[in-house]
Amino acid sequence: MATINKNYLKLPGSYLFSTIGKKVKEYSEGHPDAKIIRLGIGDVTLPLAPCVIEALHGAVDEMGREETFKGYAPDLGYEFLRSAIAERDFKKRGCDISADEIFVSDGAKGDCSNIQEIFGLDNTIAVCDPVYPVYVDSNVMAGRTGEYDPKTERFKGVIYMPCTAENNFLPELPAEVPDLIYLCFPNNPTGAVMKKDELQKWVDYANKHDSIILYDAAYESYISEDDVPHSIYECEGAKDCAIEMRSFSKTAGFTGVRLGYTVIPKDLEAGGEKLWPLWARRHGTKYNGAPYIVQRAGAAVYTDEGRKQVEEQIAYYMGNARIILDGLKAAGYDVFGGVNAPYIWLKAPYNLTSWEFFDHLLEKANVVGTPGSGFGPSGEHYFRLTAFGNRENTIEAIERIKKL
Ligand code: PLP
Repeated sequence: MATINKNYLKLPGSYLFSTIGKKVKEYSEGHPDAKIIRLGIGDVTLPLAPCVIEALHGAVDEMGREETFKGYAPDLGYEFLRSAIAERDFKKRGCDISADEIFVSDGAKGDCSNIQEIFGLDNTIAVCDPVYPVYVDSNVMAGRTGEYDPKTERFKGVIYMPCTAENNFLPELPAEVPDLIYLCFPNNPTGAVMKKDELQKWVDYANKHDSIILYDAAYESYISEDDVPHSIYECEGAKDCAIEMRSFSKTAGFTGVRLGYTVIPKDLEAGGEKLWPLWARRHGTKYNGAPYIVQRAGAAVYTDEGRKQVEEQIAYYMGNARIILDGLKAAGYDVFGGVNAPYIWLKAPYNLTSWEFFDHLLEKANVVGTPGSGFGPSGEHYFRLTAFGNRENTIEAIERIKKL
């Protein structure tokens, strides 16, 4: 008799976005004239940059000619893309990462969730709380997290590192040493960033205790301040303890195109074994590569013109972030993030819970955001707004919130 992987049954229902959808639907049915503005989405809204479209068209034409047709991509990704990444994302920032340490993929979600496969099931994990849920859920599915405790809303075998206003939304080094440490900066959902000296402390801690840091830098291109590292490899010793994951989704609007990459330094080891060959094996066995067309589109983002165009898009979103941040501050809210990240994290007023504030905003301002409690217990009483909407709606949403 076939049976199932019972670990899946341990997953708490992913009710956050479905509950938001249900509440918004019910409200709209009862108030058909309400003009609802959604600032809850974590998806981009601007169309692809012209250079990306041009590269896509060019690559499609190549696929239509016998002489230039491409089949399966090389396991680690095309050299033209990996060397552009190594040059622009790392060498230019003083990081010693070479093209053959880069594994091209179809996005960071897959990489963030799959990377745990190359580590032992006996490894303990540490995550920030609140957290991008993929890190925990993928470890639950693998059977690494123990049972879920509905009272604490936590898995018994996971080290949660609370991130609240009290610690500036930056986790403290855990007293109980984890084997795997998930860090995401700029952070989703809080928008917090680690300065270089702070991140260096984590690198030193990981090297001291033989832990591995899994560093999610999906929002790297939103960094605007000088002393914020764009890559963990800007820290000394990071090549001995860190894997970094990046995405083209928020950098270049590739959420529907799909492209990302993971960096595994050639000499990085866990338990005396090198990790690069394991991930190469995993990649080669379970994945047949991001499409040629998409990798060409990705390479276009690394040209001078391409870079300029995606930077304009990022500036547009960060303009929205500024409007949200300034507007909410003027209205007396405690607001965080939004300077080096497209996420604005605010404290619900009058000690409202995240969901009470959600209902309040929906009913009184017809604005939809994301309750912070959905990202973990320490997100309770907080709320996330995103800068990915269009300008007009963002301005109107903030005007409405200010009038409340
Ligand atoms: N990592 C973080 C922190 C994210 O917020 C997201 C998307 O929202 C991802 C990874 C997923 O990126 P991708 O679209 O490349 O799968």
